[in-house]
Amino acid sequence: MISYNYNTYSKHGIKMKTVLITGATGFLGSHLSKKLLEQGNKIIAVDNNYSGELRNIEELLPNKNFTFIDHDVIVPFDPGVKIDQIYNLACPASPVYYRAAAVKTVKTCVYGTVNALDLAKKYNAAVLQSSTSEVYGNPRVHPQKEDYWGNVNPIGARSCYDEGKRCAETLFFDYHRTYGLNIKVVRIFNTYGPNMRRDDGRVVSNFICQALEGRDLTVFGDGSQTRSFCYVDDLIDGLIKMMNTPPDFTGPVNLGNPGEISMLTLAEKIKAKINPSLKIINEPLPLDDPERRMPDITLAKERLNWQPTVSLDEGLEKTIAYFRKKR
Ligand code: UDP
Repeated sequence: MISYNYNTYSKHGIKMKTVLITGATGFLGSHLSKKLLEQGNKIIAVDNNYSGELRNIEELLPNKNFTFIDHDVIVPFDPGVKIDQIYNLACPASPVYYRAAAVKTVKTCVYGTVNALDLAKKYNAAVLQSSTSEVYGNPRVHPQKEDYWGNVNPIGARSCYDEGKRCAETLFFDYHRTYGLNIKVVRIFNTYGPNMRRDDGRVVSNFICQALEGRDLTVFGDGSQTRSFCYVDDLIDGLIKMMNTPPDFTGPVNLGNPGEISMLTLAEKIKAKINPSLKIINEPLPLDDPERRMPDITLAKERLNWQPTVSLDEGLEKTIAYFRKKR
């Protein structure tokens, strides 16, 4: 039985917002839930725990302003209370997880997004889509700006995620044009930090966990492919800033850290921090793995007054400390 608290003012006298977060037990969703609760909002957290983990939000469960609903967003849902804002984060984001559940990933991106948008329409809520740098595919333009349309394989192993997220953006803009919905679209570049799963499969958590367990670090391909890594706290600040922009600003806006690094250099960095005697081994490069990725964040700087503040070294130290403790 779900029980809601109807006080609308926090102890600081600030008007509380009711915020619904899909994907709330996941890596980003759990950090966002915590931050918005600390800021005095009421949170309705929705997740089916496919790739999220309940333990990420365990400390929030006793809070009277936090409600968790165990639900798959593919199925329509309505908590039955007025909602002010919706963050649509639900979707497996690691290639390992979305490749293992490709059809479900497309359904989550499409049906899940339609359901979030219908809810926003019903309650006249602002709604934010966590889109992705994957909409740029294997980019022919570097760094990537929001006006680049991308280079995506529509039938490949990554397409369920890439095309699913592209379709979700289309849905957002069609609901905006058709119904006047207050939409916000952010394109999130590689992000890392505490609350990633140990078996997440993404590169930062993989290298850190391999090194902590004394295993070889697995670089896919020759390791010359690049990514740009943003620490999770920075990213969450960007999401909240975007949500609270005026209704005439829809995005899409890139959110990420422009510090580009090759996977081989990343492996060497993490190895040096944890155990310099470990080996780096090469494994086959997954199909359609993008060669380069780096955000142009000019728009986020101008419109959100946002840019990352946590360096890769500082962020890696915090993430290593988290995984050491979590073992
Ligand atoms: N990667 C790697 N070793 C691993 C996991 C990933 O070299 O153990 C590479 C992967 O091939 C890609 C990059 O690291 O080039 C980032 O992969 P991730 O899955 O973290 O995210 P992506 O940006 O590909 O969605």
